[in-house]
Amino acid sequence: MTTLVNAALTVRRGARWGAGFLATAAFAVLVLLGVFSQELSALRVSHTLVIGAWVAVLSFRASRRHALVKSRSGAPIAMDLELGLLLLVGAHAAVQVGGGLSGELYPLVYVLIAFLASFARGFAGPALIAAAVGLEAAIYFVTEEQSEPRPLLLHAAFIIFFGLLNLLFTRAEIARVRERGKQALDLEKEKVKDDTRLFRLVAAPSSSARTDDERLLRASVEEVHHQLYHVLSLVQRSLDLHTCVLMMREDDGDALQIVELATDSDDIADGPFGLSGAVGAIAQRGVAMNLKNLKPGYGGLCFYRSPARVSAFLGIPITKDGEVTGVLCADRIGDRPFTARDEQVLELVRGQVARALENERVFVQLEKSKREQSILHQASKSLGSALDEAAVIDAGLMAAAEIAPYDFAAITFYDAETRKHHVKRAVGTSAQKVDGLIFRDNTSLTAMAVKNRHYLPYRGDFDPAQQTVFTKRTNLKSMRSVLVLPLIVREDAIGTLALAAERGGVFTESARATLSVLVNQLAVSLANAAAVKRLEEMATTDGLTGCLNKRQFLIELDQKLRSAERFGRKLSLIVTDIDHFKSVNDTYGHATGDVVIKELGAILTRMKRETDIVARFGGEEFCILCEETDTEGAVLLAERVREEVKGTIFQSELGELSVTASLGVATFPDHASASTVLFEESDKALYAAKHGGRDQVCAA
Ligand code: GH3
Ligand code: MG
Ligand code: MG
Repeated sequence: MTTLVNAALTVRRGARWGAGFLATAAFAVLVLLGVFSQELSALRVSHTLVIGAWVAVLSFRASRRHALVKSRSGAPIAMDLELGLLLLVGAHAAVQVGGGLSGELYPLVYVLIAFLASFARGFAGPALIAAAVGLEAAIYFVTEEQSEPRPLLLHAAFIIFFGLLNLLFTRAEIARVRERGKQALDLEKEKVKDDTRLFRLVAAPSSSARTDDERLLRASVEEVHHQLYHVLSLVQRSLDLHTCVLMMREDDGDALQIVELATDSDDIADGPFGLSGAVGAIAQRGVAMNLKNLKPGYGGLCFYRSPARVSAFLGIPITKDGEVTGVLCADRIGDRPFTARDEQVLELVRGQVARALENERVFVQLEKSKREQSILHQASKSLGSALDEAAVIDAGLMAAAEIAPYDFAAITFYDAETRKHHVKRAVGTSAQKVDGLIFRDNTSLTAMAVKNRHYLPYRGDFDPAQQTVFTKRTNLKSMRSVLVLPLIVREDAIGTLALAAERGGVFTESARATLSVLVNQLAVSLANAAAVKRLEEMATTDGLTGCLNKRQFLIELDQKLRSAERFGRKLSLIVTDIDHFKSVNDTYGHATGDVVIKELGAILTRMKRETDIVARFGGEEFCILCEETDTEGAVLLAERVREEVKGTIFQSELGELSVTASLGVATFPDHASASTVLFEESDKALYAAKHGGRDQVCAA
């Protein structure tokens, strides 16, 4: 059923796309038959009818095409091709009416080709040029029955020439317009950055602003401009000013820039302006200035390009924390000096301006801290759900990237006992150089951050000639920004999070503050992961020897037995027991006995193959599980163990001692088909070894 429906849909879609081409083809056949030529004058009336119908179809299709392009951008090239062909055939019909290819209407084809080549998209342009040449050749040879190729070649050459010329010209023009648009956008971005600095919306504007920050700042800058313009134009109208302009000092304080103005003048200069003239004096001295009866051509107003026509000027400083940050200026044409009341009004405006700037600054800070909080919230969620150390580190590095765009990051651990730092994980630029690096306590930022329990360097700027991140030899020479944050759990620094970026100024004050919060969470999560790991180890291993404990061994035995069964492989179990161990304890003491047990565990761990499993089963009994091993192979290993144990000399307070061990071997499926039976059989073999005189290996 669905296939039928699908087929029907395909046919319908095909018909919709094919219909246009089909109609064009049918129309082309009419043209080729010469239906529109003057010889068949009896059909003159019908020509007009057909052309009328064609125009109707054309306009219908054009409008539908327009709607289609609007609704979805599917197959625009095919549509261009379809429309172009229809126009082409139509043009030839008209040419035929006008007397054929050598008739006076022929230039219509050139005009059409120029138009189509300019506006058809993709390969539709070249395809239409080719179609035009083909169609004309067909009409020339078939309809007009000519045989001399020269006139046709001339036409074809013109078609191709016009077509290609327009094609190339238009595309170059489009590329140029795009490029100009991009430049304008870049310029606009630059300007937003400048304004941000002038408005002091952020404490330390960084070149590395993230896109969210950029968007936020752009919106804020627009908002400030909006408010300022509103206030300035209001005062311009109410005080009947020629110009009311707000200028702000640049960061270094050497120049003033116009940030907003309302003026009737068309002679405003672009700036920036040095601190000269009346405006400069206000900025430098921080006092208001009211100038009356200015001479025509007074040159002290820097914001006019040519000497001003104004006769009165009033300027007041804008201050923040006792520093002049800008100047608010007003001036008038005509003999109307500024009164004390005017001054009061301007002072009100100044308050308004200052509030607008301050509001936006607070708003930006609030928005930023809101975002930082959400990053931290997200980070603490993912840190909390990370179960092991690797996952915690992943989550930490990811969250740090959200806060500051680093090029390099590493987590180091500090071992207070050995006083060594260990680069546990490094990612990013030149990470492989330091990954796994172990280094002593030195003068590196890492060592100092651990010692001082404070992030370093204080401003996040890095000078590789003066500072090292880990060691001199592996220093991150390409980095300009570095921040090493200590991971503190309770009072101790357990390591660091080291971040670095190739650009300067990446670790801004606010980034440093947010990262400090992040590393606290990270440190706690790492400590938790370590505690969980220790618990797991305690639950699965034996405290004295570090070998698996009985419980875990039985779990693994079950798994190995199942896979041995599935793949038809052998699995051998060796059990060992030290001979006359009670007397070792009795003679040398329990502590020495422990040393012997521990050493036996070490011998077994050393001698087993990678896939074998060793467990302490209790007391001085151990088990070795050998995968893919038959009885013969297991006995061989057991013999080697026996000899190794026998040859080992232990030191004790009462002098040297040595022990022997007995071992029993049983194999699945030869001696047992289940784990309990396998144990019984190897125990029996061990019993036999004991009875056979000890210090020997017996197989089931
Ligand atoms: P046999 O040759 O028949 O094995 O004689 P044995 O004395 O070794 O006998 P058995 O294996 O039954 O003795 C186990 C002894 O191991 C009992 C106990 O004193 C000692 N033992 C068990 N666990 C520990 C331990 O954790 N540390 C020490 N030092 N001794 C242990
Ligand atoms: Mg025993
Ligand atoms: Mg024993």
